[in-house]
Amino acid sequence: MSRDGHQAERLEVDPIACAGHGLCAELLPELIELDDWGYPLLANGGEVPPELAALARRAADACPTLALHRLRVAAAAGVGRATP
Ligand code: SF4
Repeated sequence: MSRDGHQAERLEVDPIACAGHGLCAELLPELIELDDWGYPLLANGGEVPPELAALARRAADACPTLALHRLRVAAAAGVGRATP
């Protein structure tokens, strides 16, 4: 948890599982854009600002191949998977 009480969150794409559907970029254009082949590029290293956390969850849940992962970033405990 960060000093201001927010749990930092980060998105990560599994490049093996990603099929380049582009749905994530449609649902979360604030953080995800597509490259020339339709594969996602994450802005800001995938870091999710607290105000976009709900949209990031929706995008990850909607990924047809489960390639978009939400990771919880805790300063002391390292990185772990975010709970749904
Ligand atoms: S929705 Fe999933 S499979 Fe489609 S581009 Fe995004 S991460 Fe890849």
